[in-house]
Amino acid sequence: MMNAVKPPPMIDESLRPLAERELRRVRLGLSFPGPLESRYRQDTTALSAADMRTFALLTLPLYLISIVIAALTFRGLHSIGDIAKHSATVIAVTLLVLPYLRSKVSFRRRMAAFFVLCAAFALLPILFTGTEPHEPPIEELIVCALPISYLLLFSRLALPLGALLACLAIAGYGAVVLYLVPSLTSAVKADLIGLVALQAVPALVALRFLERGTRRLYLHSLLERMNYESAVASNIVLKNLSYTDPLTGVANRRRMEAELARICDQDDAGASFLMLDIDWFKSFNDHYGHPVGDRALQEVANCLSTALRDGDLLGRMGGEEFGVLLPGIVMQEGVMVAERLRAAVAGFPFMVGTKIVPITVSVGLSSIVPHDDPARVVEAADKALYRAKQAGRNRVGGPWLKQTP
Ligand code: GH3
Ligand code: MG
Ligand code: MG
Repeated sequence: MMNAVKPPPMIDESLRPLAERELRRVRLGLSFPGPLESRYRQDTTALSAADMRTFALLTLPLYLISIVIAALTFRGLHSIGDIAKHSATVIAVTLLVLPYLRSKVSFRRRMAAFFVLCAAFALLPILFTGTEPHEPPIEELIVCALPISYLLLFSRLALPLGALLACLAIAGYGAVVLYLVPSLTSAVKADLIGLVALQAVPALVALRFLERGTRRLYLHSLLERMNYESAVASNIVLKNLSYTDPLTGVANRRRMEAELARICDQDDAGASFLMLDIDWFKSFNDHYGHPVGDRALQEVANCLSTALRDGDLLGRMGGEEFGVLLPGIVMQEGVMVAERLRAAVAGFPFMVGTKIVPITVSVGLSSIVPHDDPARVVEAADKALYRAKQAGRNRVGGPWLKQTP
């Protein structure tokens, strides 16, 4: 049986109180409560992966240019060989890391890959200049200190863990300056560490505020999306109600007519339309009473819908008349379905008290051709049904008349 309109998968409503509470709360920590945090990650994962790749790809040429400028500008001019060695290392690290910066890769692995990239950009220049046999000039090391901003970007993408890692990286940077560059005086080393801290600390604070703002905007948009989705869902519920027959739960006449018009409008394969009418139902009601008649209508609807395929549509056209739309079913096959439905109702053991009361239906069939007229289809089915009634009921009628035993 063709289903009623299905609502789309919605954002879990249990996130609403969490999101509303987070919006009211002024917090120092940046992560959301568990389920909200995973939703946030899920919604922003493709974005953050794209950010990382763009960052990696844009940084590489900028970084290579800065290496060349640094090497040519300052006193301790490096050889072309050194520049080539350094550039090749940075390119190799970027190419190795790039495949891991995709939204398909898990969040943890992506962050680990990005951290490797940031660390490489930040620390490689120090290792190169710091292990030079000659005394490295201070300007060179100052240029080398600038890549700390890469670590800051990392901390922006991986907050709150990223902030911690960025602090550790700055401390590590200090350790490298202190221990790997023996030729510098302690005063110069202190200056270098101070310079990095001076860049890093305000930037980290600013990043924290930026992330807080981003998260608040996200909460607003999440709540807006949830409001929109619940409005759409209640609209669908209303639509389903206005398309359903309250007594039997199958489609009502309005839905049948809409669906018939849609199928008639198609320009591919044909379809069939059946009109079924319970035989002698007035007498049935008179004999057993209206409530039993109502139950009979419900059970006939159940029996018919069980006998139909997915994709067929059963509806109550009014009174004791049902309609069935059979998309893709033409002529002889339609007669077989009609006959199957007739036999299913006739064989259905309808109980009144302890007695089985037979119920039968007469069926009228009409074929739908591409770009058919719905009114013509219904009229033809009505005529066929009339012929079936005339021929004695409990049978299928069409332009021919199939006699049933
Ligand atoms: P035929 O075989 O020619 O179709 O005879 P019939 O008695 O079924 O046809 P008729 O149109 O004379 O009677 C239809 C009856 O269906 C009349 C009415 O009492 C009954 N009916 C229509 N709607 C309902 C309903 O919602 N509940 C009940 N219980 N009966 C209904
Ligand atoms: Mg009738
Ligand atoms: Mg009838």
